[in-house]
Amino acid sequence: MAKFTILYGCGHIADAEVEGNQYEQEQRIAYLKICGRCPECEKKYGKTGQAARTEA
Ligand SMILES: [Zn+2]
Repeated sequence: MAKFTILYGCGHIADAEVEGNQYEQEQRIAYLKICGRCPECEKKYGKTGQAARTEA
């Protein structure tokens, strides 16, 4: 497992731990940068796709 500090798709900077070989890691990082969520946002919105809708 390798650790990277990246700018996530959500707009936050955080560490990401990725597994696999170098190619797999690059793919994962590229994905996270585009549409990934940082750990904080994952906690907030969950890991399942859609951005949380604010119910007001
Ligand atoms: Zn975030």
